[in-house]
Formats: sequence, C-alpha cells, structure tokens
Amino acid sequence: MFKVDFIIFGQGLAGTSLAHSLDFKNKSYIIIDNCSLGTSSFAAAGIYHPISFKRLLLSWKSNLLIPFAENFYKKIELNLNSKFLKPHNLFRIFSSIEEQNNWLSKVADPIYKNYISESNKELNNNSIKFPYDYGKVSSAGRLDVSKYILESRAYFLKNKSIRIENFEFQSIKRLSNGFNYKDISCNHLVFCEGQNYVKNPFFNYLPSKPSKGETIVIECDQFPELLINKGCFVYPLLKNNFLVGATYKHNDLSHKNTKEAREELISKLLNIGDFKFKIIQQKAGVRPTTYDRRPIVGNHPEINNMHILNGLGSKGVMFAPYFSDQLIANIYEGEQIDSEANVRRYSKKHFQELKNP
Ligand SMILES: Cc1cc2nc3c(=O)[nH]c(=O)nc-3n(C[C@H](O)[C@H](O)[C@H](O)COP(=O)(O)OP(=O)(O)OC[C@H]3O[C@@H](n4cnc5c(N)ncnc54)[C@H](O)[C@@H]3O)c2cc1C
Repeated sequence: MFKVDFIIFGQGLAGTSLAHSLDFKNKSYIIIDNCSLGTSSFAAAGIYHPISFKRLLLSWKSNLLIPFAENFYKKIELNLNSKFLKPHNLFRIFSSIEEQNNWLSKVADPIYKNYISESNKELNNNSIKFPYDYGKVSSAGRLDVSKYILESRAYFLKNKSIRIENFEFQSIKRLSNGFNYKDISCNHLVFCEGQNYVKNPFFNYLPSKPSKGETIVIECDQFPELLINKGCFVYPLLKNNFLVGATYKHNDLSHKNTKEAREELISKLLNIGDFKFKIIQQKAGVRPTTYDRRPIVGNHPEINNMHILNGLGSKGVMFAPYFSDQLIANIYEGEQIDSEANVRRYSKKHFQELKNP
C-alpha cells in the first residue's frame, strides 16, 4: 500500500489550489483526474475583480479573497517558475446616468474608495462609446487558468502526485481512520470534481444550479489594450487578440459552442463601440454554481475525513485559494469554515440524525 495524507479527486481550479495549499503545509497527496479538456476551468476567462456591478456593491468577502488569491498565485508562480497572474485595472463603462450617479456617490465612501475611482481620460479611443462616462476599478486582474492548471499538472506528474484515470467510487473503502483507494491508503479524501458532484454517490444530495458559460476570442486592431466591462468584459490577450465573455445559461448544460452565445457576445461587444473584428475561437463550459452563489466546503455530515471543495461558480479564481486554505485549517487546527460556505448548511434537510441530534 502506498500511504499519503490526502487523495484529491479532480484537478481543476479547486483541486489544483488545494494540492498547492497542501504543499505549503508539507502534507502528501495523490490527485486522481482523467485530464478531460471539457471542464469549467479550461473554459474559464479567469477574470477577478471586487465589484458586483448590478447593484454596485463590493462582492462577498472580496476584501479578503482578492489579496489572499493574488499572494497565493504569486507564490505558485515562484515555485513553478512561471507566470499566469496579471493584475489589471478594469474600466467600467456606465450604461445610464443613474449608474454614473451611483458610482460617483460611492467613490468617496470609505468602503469603496480603495476599489473604485473616477475616470481619468484613460479611454482615449475613438471607437469606444461612453456617453455616460466610465469609472475605474482596481484590485482586478486575470489568472490564465489553463496555463495554471497545465503547468501545475506537469509539476504533479514530475512529483508522481497525479494519476490520470477516471474515479471509481466503488474502489473507495472506509477504514477506521481513513480510506483505501485501490493501492493507496490515505487519512483524508477531498472531492473537487466540479459540476460532476451531482454524480458523486456521497455528495449527490447537494442542490445544484449549474450555469453554462461561453466566451469568444476576437482579432481586432481598434480595441485598446485594456480590461473593459459593459454588459460583457473584453480582455487583451496577445497583440490584437481579445477575450470576450461570458454568457450565463441554465437550460443547456452541454459543453458545445452555440450560435446563440456567439450572437449575444457580438451584440454586447457592438454596444461598447463600432469595431471591425474576426472571431477566432469560441469556448464553452459549465460552472459548478449553487443557488446561494457560495462555495461548498467541508466534511461530509456522516463520513469522517471525507471532504468537498466545490461550488466555485463564476468566482473560482477568487474562491479556490482561500477556501483550500480554510479547509486544511479546519482539518488540522479545527478552524471554523465560514458558515455561508460550509457544506453543513445543507445537512439538516438531508440527514435525519442531524435534524434530531
Ligand atoms: C465560460 C466560463 C467563464 C468563466 N469565467 C470565469 C472568470 O472570469 N473568473 C472566475 O473566477 N471564474 C470563471 N469561471 C468559473 C470557473 O471556471 C469555475 O469556478 C472553476 O473552474 C471550477 O473549478 P472546479 O475545479 O470546481 O471544477 P472543474 O474545472 O470542472 O474541475 C473538475 C476536475 O475534475 C475532473 N473530473 C470530474 N469528474 C471526473 C471523473 N469521474 N474522473 C476523473 N476526473 C474527473 C475533471 O477532469 C476536472 O479536471 C468561468 C466558467 C466558465 C464556464
């Protein structure tokens, strides 16, 4: 038998970040992943920023999550001798006079003043329309998620800490203080399988509200090299190539690109300005999203040492590092998991003995 502290099922944003967090604590692990390319993480645009634009509020815990995530990815960049994180300012083009007024009223508010500011003529581009002006968001940026995962995978392969295969749930054998899985024995199991948790016999009781997303890459020589948001985001990749996204759909959970999403993104893009462009790529994936838009983290309600890290929704880049760390601190130091993210918020409904302790 091969003995490790953890087996991690899944190497998307969640499993990758958990494995690096375990490295920081000198814990051993084996990851099991079939290395499919049709995952949420491979479709992810990788943008992070602290603002919920709909109601112009700071998004949940962003003051903690963003600095934590930026430090985390920078540490991994050093360890892997690579670059995948790029901090950027984000320019939000206002859609109405109300949005502009709301923004200006918040710029001086102590809660917002470190994150949003007024425009300062940065958008000096004739093709962009901004009749109601625009504002600037700091603490934003992009993680090149595919690169982060692939370079981490090369590192895990080199260390023999990943096995490329499908999960076999029937091979999980419970021991008094851990598990055997085929020829591996471990103290803890963590499921990080993205939207596939609905097929996991241990966690399929959890509610799920998956949301399909699509992005396109365009070639355009009129767009500025800036991260811009108005109805959609536009992010500068290589010279003259821009990532545009993303759509949200709950009624189609296939991983197929659609004409409908392409047309939606083109229409949003043309709402930002008059550009000539060519679409050179399109990607689709299904986000593992929950009804309350909070992650799902913690120990199975009935099986000791069996855990989950999932429900990263549309904020995987911000959530994965912080909640990987929190899960490990919970396991080893008994630190509380944030009650809004704790998997136990769903237990009462599904586990009788917890209903009547
Ligand atoms: C179009 C789109 C745009 C997005 N944009 C952003 C963005 O800008 N910013 C942001 O923060 N987030 C974004 N997201 C969300 C982000 O992608 C997710 O939050 C994140 O990728 C979820 O990671 P995960 O590890 O939970 O799941 P996944 O990425 O799905 O990873 C699960 C892993 O488990 C493996 N696996 C599953 N089942 C099995 C099995 N039976 N056997 C073996 N292996 C298995 C898979 O191969 C995969 O590697 C976007 C998502 C989409 C679809």
